[in-house]
Amino acid sequence: MAGLYKKYALCLLIFLMMVTASSSCFFETEAPQEKEKKITDRYTDVSDADWFADAVEHACGLRLMTGTSENTFEPKAGMTRAMFVQALYMMSGQIPDEPSSGLPFKDVSSADPYYDAVNWAYKRHIMSGSTENLFQPSSVMTREQAVQLFYRYSGEPPAGSGNLSGFADKDAVESWARKAYVWAVKEGLISGTLVDGKMYLNPRKDLKRGEAAVLLTDFYSYTIQNETVEDMGLPYEKPIQKSSIPNGIRIPVLMYHEISDEVHGSLDYLFVRTDSMRSQLKWLKDNGYETIVFPDLVNLSKYKKPVMLTLDDGYTGNYTNLFPLLKEFNMKATIFVVTDEIGDPYKMTEEQIRELSDSGLVSIQSHTKSHKKLSTLTDLQLIEECRESKLALRRITGVSPCAMSYPEGRYHSGTISIVEDYYDFGILDRHGPWVTSQKTMYYIPRTVIPRSFTLQQFAAAVRR
Ligand SMILES: [Zn+2]
Repeated sequence: MAGLYKKYALCLLIFLMMVTASSSCFFETEAPQEKEKKITDRYTDVSDADWFADAVEHACGLRLMTGTSENTFEPKAGMTRAMFVQALYMMSGQIPDEPSSGLPFKDVSSADPYYDAVNWAYKRHIMSGSTENLFQPSSVMTREQAVQLFYRYSGEPPAGSGNLSGFADKDAVESWARKAYVWAVKEGLISGTLVDGKMYLNPRKDLKRGEAAVLLTDFYSYTIQNETVEDMGLPYEKPIQKSSIPNGIRIPVLMYHEISDEVHGSLDYLFVRTDSMRSQLKWLKDNGYETIVFPDLVNLSKYKKPVMLTLDDGYTGNYTNLFPLLKEFNMKATIFVVTDEIGDPYKMTEEQIRELSDSGLVSIQSHTKSHKKLSTLTDLQLIEECRESKLALRRITGVSPCAMSYPEGRYHSGTISIVEDYYDFGILDRHGPWVTSQKTMYYIPRTVIPRSFTLQQFAAAVRR
């Protein structure tokens, strides 16, 4: 990815400043994570010892592939055209092409779960039918067909000077797939199989689901490192002109998790009672504060006393308890959602998130894909967290998120240079209020509002 390390030195400097500021008063603001469970644990036919096990786990985590039943993955079964096109569509972020009519295939109907995927691939000239009017969704892919689709998905880049001379069966590659193969070998997407000292591509061999998981996840990693946000297929939206945000404006960015009388888990300060929230919102209104969300920052001069209400993790109570209060007071809030947790117990569903976003009162932003501490991730994992949460929220709300809240407020020097490729703002979990400046756009501090606060303590924290 171009520019990955471009601001490394600056980030390091800012990081050292932040570490100095934060190390003395660290506290946990998040529920401790349970021991990590693997998706593939439930599949009786995938064991940790299988060479494709990690790839199957990754492919399922990205929802590129799913099991063939609740308890089976069937790694040795054939990868069908429908399964493959669905995987590529998921990889692209599932932004459907419109209109979705006019498919020439007699064997694909709008009731099929892969209909949108076929439509997307056909309209973008990534995948055509097996014949003029048949798609043949259940026929099994060959390896060379898969390579050809990766090539088309990547926009058919020039293959350059490479060749296939290192492979004993190079002549088995059909002429239509040759360019794609040269490119895929050169880019390291295909390596071949060693048999009796010779390398084989096996281009016409059927693709098995276990193998497909390996090819797909390798291709996914390759793709996300080489694309830009513009390449992600998101419809054009007006970019946020951060340079127009004035410096030196004090904004209390209030940090909550869930508005709920009930507490789940051991960290009860995360759950602010509905009555307390009502008093707090009334106090803000009575004292002339105006709630803003991140896209409002470009019009900051319009607001005399701006304040931001932010809530992390995407709890259901923010739909059931906070949303009615926002409507009552006509106030705006930002909710940072963990996209892998959508629909989990105590977490909002896609429909609830969409309704909040559509109301215009709630701005839905990213709290990553899986809520891992960003400081512990590789660059590739971090790109995945930024990219997948952005695409999922764009798909659900129709709006591209512009801000990311760092899980547990953790980041390191390299984190920001990747986050800034996907988001305009990065948000911490303490040290508020925020005084605006161009230097702090990825280090926006917040003011924690715990369950125990009296209204007087709340007022003091907002005024601090
Ligand atoms: Zn969180």
